[in-house]
Amino acid sequence: MTTTEQRVAIVTGAARGIGAATAIRLAAEGRAVAVIDLDEAACKGTVDTITAAGGKALAVGCDVSDAAQVETAVAWVAEELGAPTILVNNAGVIRDNLLFKMTDADWDTVMNVHLKGSFLMTRAIQKYMVDAQFGRIVNLSSSSALGNRGQVNYSAAKAGLQGFTKTLALELGKFGVTANSVAPGFIATEMTAQTAARIGMSFEDFKKAGADGIPVKRVGEPEDIANAIAFFTGDAAGFVSGQVLYVAGGPLN
Ligand code: NAP
Repeated sequence: MTTTEQRVAIVTGAARGIGAATAIRLAAEGRAVAVIDLDEAACKGTVDTITAAGGKALAVGCDVSDAAQVETAVAWVAEELGAPTILVNNAGVIRDNLLFKMTDADWDTVMNVHLKGSFLMTRAIQKYMVDAQFGRIVNLSSSSALGNRGQVNYSAAKAGLQGFTKTLALELGKFGVTANSVAPGFIATEMTAQTAARIGMSFEDFKKAGADGIPVKRVGEPEDIANAIAFFTGDAAGFVSGQVLYVAGGPLN
């Protein structure tokens, strides 16, 4: 790649929340960004924000847990924007319940979107990174990887992504590819709004209660996570690999 060529990034689950903020931030850093989500039409808001600011973006509908859809989506991005060499595995769902009430479907859905989805996307994109001898992979873990009541499925998937990240770093380092994990704490998005609804609290009260327990005395915003991802995906972060960064407004035990 010459220095004038634009790097191409893929961000999954980028129709809203952390994924949308990340796509917008990476575009502001000069990347051409593929905005992937389940529903192509839902990606329009993110794409419009990027293009209105003079950036380049492409909306792509794809279920990251479906191997055929992932292969098609990644090939489409390569054709439309160029070889993708930055990947942010962000798409996620929650299916919270206490262990004794958790169904097989709740378990499988969470494993399929977070773990299998990240595996399928990374497998599909790695050849472009190896060819380019450059790549940046960021996987979204969570503070829940350390354990969280009602999230035996989600915490297992998010801890699994940390192991996935470290092994990618070991396997792909010699091709100029880094892999890191960002593990957010409480971030104000639809996902945490869903949790508030499940436990019967207003989102405002839920955020206030969350902020009380956070050293910086506020909950996170999607941009807080996008900032960390921008660092890991930057050209200057080539010697930082296999790391897990908790972005949670304070230390976690
Ligand atoms: P969000 O607002 O719920 O956004 C997640 C996005 O992923 C949605 O647009 C969703 O689409 C999409 N998605 C779900 N399943 C998909 C699939 N199979 N294929 C493609 N896209 C899919 O969530 P968020 O809070 O921004 O979270 C983003 C990531 O950060 C997740 O991995 C989450 O686990 C992690 N995280 C979040 C927090 C937090 O406090 N918010 C904390 C730690 C970690 P639909 O709307 O169509 O379902």
